[in-house]
Amino acid sequence: MTDIEISVLDKTYRPEHAADRQHKAIADLQLRVARDQFVCLLGPSGCGKTTLLNMIAGLDSQYQGQIRIGRLASRPKIGYVFQSPRLLPWYDVRRNIELVFPAKPPTELIDALLDAMQLGDVQHEFPERLSLGMQRRVAIIRAFAIDPDLLLMDEPFVSLDAPSARQVRNLLYTLWQQRPHTVLFVSHDLREAIALADRLIFLSPSPMRIVADIVVDIPRPLRNDEVQIETFRGTLYSRHPQIADLL
Ligand code: ADP
Ligand code: MG
Repeated sequence: MTDIEISVLDKTYRPEHAADRQHKAIADLQLRVARDQFVCLLGPSGCGKTTLLNMIAGLDSQYQGQIRIGRLASRPKIGYVFQSPRLLPWYDVRRNIELVFPAKPPTELIDALLDAMQLGDVQHEFPERLSLGMQRRVAIIRAFAIDPDLLLMDEPFVSLDAPSARQVRNLLYTLWQQRPHTVLFVSHDLREAIALADRLIFLSPSPMRIVADIVVDIPRPLRNDEVQIETFRGTLYSRHPQIADLL
């Protein structure tokens, strides 16, 4: 079953007062993502990854084409971890998470997520007191807490040190296994992408197109085997040498 069907014919940014500076971000992008698939999007800075996530999230409708998200009967819940944490500075950590709930927030789930992300002790601190890595973890909790059908993550582990990134990656993976949902995850880190994803999509510089679409067939759940990941990576580079320029 297809969960997301993307057919974008044209996405051009047209700055209002500088028509000569318009920028074609996406020319012709066709992409289908199956339900509960974990997909990593990889491509150079500025190729249009954030643009695409914003369009999928429904935050940007200024384009030609169509993006359909499955389960037509009900509105899918979309969790979005933005490229920057986007916490509200005048609310504490807990309130920043709770405010995505129009009605009663799920107290126990939020407690469990705070605990898992080791943020229980700082839940009443304000964002400015937190490191960027902690702020990122809050943003991840906020996206998870709504129990999304579709999770969009825009380079969520940038600026985490290596051990924290590994820890949060493992947690993300555990949560995804406990409650599968479709994930679109933007990463610059091929090893991380191989460790997490069912599928890797390599994207060209703008206007963005798909350069390679690769199935990761390393068995789950154990994807922490460095040798296996390195072997997969080596084979990938030898079969698709063009991807070296994209990372
Ligand atoms: P990525 O996330 O892959 O780094 P973006 O989606 O942020 O790329 O940007 C894709 C291209 O579109 C870039 O060249 C960027 O400069 C341009 N762009 C992004 N947002 C805007 C905007 N609001 N107005 C004009 N150009 C934009
Ligand atoms: Mg981006």
